[in-house]
Order: sequence, then structure tokens, then C-alpha cells
Amino acid sequence: SVLTVPVGLGDRSYDVMIGDGALEAAAPRLPGIFPRQRAIIVTDRHIAPLHLERVTAVLAGAGIACDPIVMEPGEATKSFAGLEQLVDALLERNIERSEAVIALGGGVIGDLTGFAAAVTKRGVGFVQIPTTLLAQVDSSVGGKTGINTRQGKNFAGAFHQPRLVIADTAFITTLPERERRAGYAEIIKAALIGDATMFDRLDAAGANVLHGAPLARAIADAVAFKAHIVAQDELEHGRRALLNLGHTFAHAFEAEAPRDAIRHGEAVAAGIALAFRYSVARGECPASDADRVETHLRTIGLPWSAATLAHKDWDAGRLVARMRDDKKNQAGEITLILARGIGKAWIDPRIDAAHLVAFLETSL
Ligand code: NAD
Ligand code: ZN
Repeated sequence: SVLTVPVGLGDRSYDVMIGDGALEAAAPRLPGIFPRQRAIIVTDRHIAPLHLERVTAVLAGAGIACDPIVMEPGEATKSFAGLEQLVDALLERNIERSEAVIALGGGVIGDLTGFAAAVTKRGVGFVQIPTTLLAQVDSSVGGKTGINTRQGKNFAGAFHQPRLVIADTAFITTLPERERRAGYAEIIKAALIGDATMFDRLDAAGANVLHGAPLARAIADAVAFKAHIVAQDELEHGRRALLNLGHTFAHAFEAEAPRDAIRHGEAVAAGIALAFRYSVARGECPASDADRVETHLRTIGLPWSAATLAHKDWDAGRLVARMRDDKKNQAGEITLILARGIGKAWIDPRIDAAHLVAFLETSL
């Protein structure tokens, strides 16, 4: 069964279709999105041999011819060079503003393709077909697109909402377990921010939540939660920042660890645990809630502290210095998402760096 979650943004509203067979279920909608009966599909060299044939066949069944563009896999593709290559390829195919381009891949392909769609001829449509769990629950929904620059990750980009998101869980059967667990961190994040009942459900399922129908349900819950926040604050002037729970710590871990030593979701899991522990240390969150978060992360096989990350050589001062550089901070101060309990996250834009260093020194 396929679940459909709406993202309500007025005349730019769209659906996220989720589950095993979501691609086939979406087929009747495709002719309306591809009026020229052709679809340019952007994907990468890992994904093309695994999944391009199925996508091409479903589109052919809907009367749409496919024209693939295969990029190099990896974060380096999310760059000015990758953008130039892709925009050039789209223009060479004479793409028109009435058309849409498909992003078939993980967050790298989705972010790059969305940005290319936003700028090509001042904006063509795009459809997300996410193939990693992270992309299905997080990056394909909400309209943030972009590339990395020499100054930092995602430093150039645009808000550009997709026309449709097809999160078919059959795609992630070819994903390594470590990637699957890492993507799950963004699911548990949603529950911990604002949905205690969802957390209870995920916690009761334990490690079973990583597969089958429980996973599709969990993806749909996380997407519905994100959709709700995006509908209220599309451009992140306020509440949307809650989605950064665990992420300020995570970005510091990722910046300090050797390249590819830890997955983003692993850093997020440890960051979430730290956000809860820091909230407890400030006397603002019951310790029993932080205990439940850590136990759940352990059950899933995710890191549940800085010490359980694959890289361990952390320095509190260096981590906090990284956190001060976060692009979302106001001048000189650190913004952290803290929790008053499970499902009760809030934004504190005035974290004292010295206090945070002292806390981290006791928890690394
Ligand atoms: P990714 O896109 O690099 O994919 C990870 C690897 O898995 C790649 O090698 C890819 O080729 C491979 N792969 C993808 N699907 C596969 C499949 N089904 N089977 C086998 N291999 C497969 O990484 P990701 O974790 O999906 O995305 C990370 C990116 O997402 C980062 O650049 C991050 O900044 C971005 N992101 C964006 C948002 C947003 O709101 N736009 C949110 C979160 C993350
Ligand atoms: Zn994330």
C-alpha cells in the first residue's frame, strides 16, 4: 500500500507518495507533469545500473520517453563544476520552462538537480525520486536545493519546491545497512522535535522499524511532520529551524572527523543525544527522557553519544569553535535546538560558548 502525504504550499502544493510500489502508483500523474512526453532524468553512476531501467519502463508505460544524465556519485558533484555540467546538459536538450526534470538519487543528486532546475531558464519544474532513506525522509521534501562552495556546505542554493516526490521504498533495498540506519536518524529526529506519540510507536517497534511496512509508516510520519513545519515556515525565518535538532553538534563532528569517517546521520544521532543531555544538565529536561533517547538509538545501532561515534578524537574547544561558524547563527552566538522532553524541542539562539565547552568536556 502506498501512503500519500500532502505538502501544503498554496499553488505550489505537492504530494509525497511513499511505500513499496509508489513509482507505479504515481504513473497516472506523470503525463500532466511531462507535457512534451519526455523526461530528462538526472542520476548517478551507482544508481543508474540498479534502478534506471525500472524508472524508464514505468515512464514508457505512461507514454513518456526518458533521457538520462548520469553524474559522478559523491558530495563533490554538488559543486559549481557539477552545476555547470548539469545546466549545460539541460540547455543542450532544449529544456523548456513548461517541462520538469527528474532527480533520481540521494540527497546529492536531489540538491544539485533541484538547484539546476531553479536556475535553468529562471526555473523549470522538477520531480524528486529519492533513492536513499535520508533523501526519502528529509532532503527530497521542503524545497531546499543547493551546492557546496569553498566556504562551506550548501552555501549557494535556492528554495525551489518539487512538483511531486516519489519515495518508493523498493529503491532502498540496494542501500547498505549503514546508510539505512543513518537515514533513520532523521526519522527519529522528527519524533523527538514534536511528536511524542510517534516516538512511542518507533520505540515499541525497535529495530523492526528499519524494514517493511513499519519503515514506510515511519517515513510517512516523518514526512508529514516536516511538511507541517515547512507549510508554516517555508523560508526558515523561525520554526523551521527546529528541524536542525542535533545538527549543530553534527556539523561540528562532521567538520572535525576525517573525510568519510562518519555518516551524517550518525553525527546527527550523537548530536541529538547531546542536545538532550545538555538540556538535562541545564535542568530543563527530565533525565529519564534523555535515557529513553539513548536506549532507542542503541537499539537501532546508531551512535548515542560522542564516544560511540566511529571517530573518537574530539576536542571540546575545537568543536564549539566549529559550532560558532554555523551559517545559521546570529553574530557571535550559538543557536542550539534544545528539548524540554521527548517531542518538546525549542530554539535557544543565545548559547554561551564557554558554558557549552565546559559541558562537552564532561561528555566526550
Ligand atoms: P548521497 O546522495 O551521496 O548518496 C549516498 C551514496 O549512496 C552515493 O554513493 C549514491 O550513489 C548511493 N546510492 C544512492 N541511492 C542508492 C541506492 N538505492 N542503492 C545503492 N546506492 C545508492 O547521500 P545522501 O545521504 O542521500 O544525501 C546527502 C546529501 O543530502 C548532502 O549533500 C546533504 O547536504 C543533503 N541534504 C539536503 C537536505 C535538504 O533539505 N535539501 C537535507 C538533508 C541532507
Ligand atoms: Zn540532517
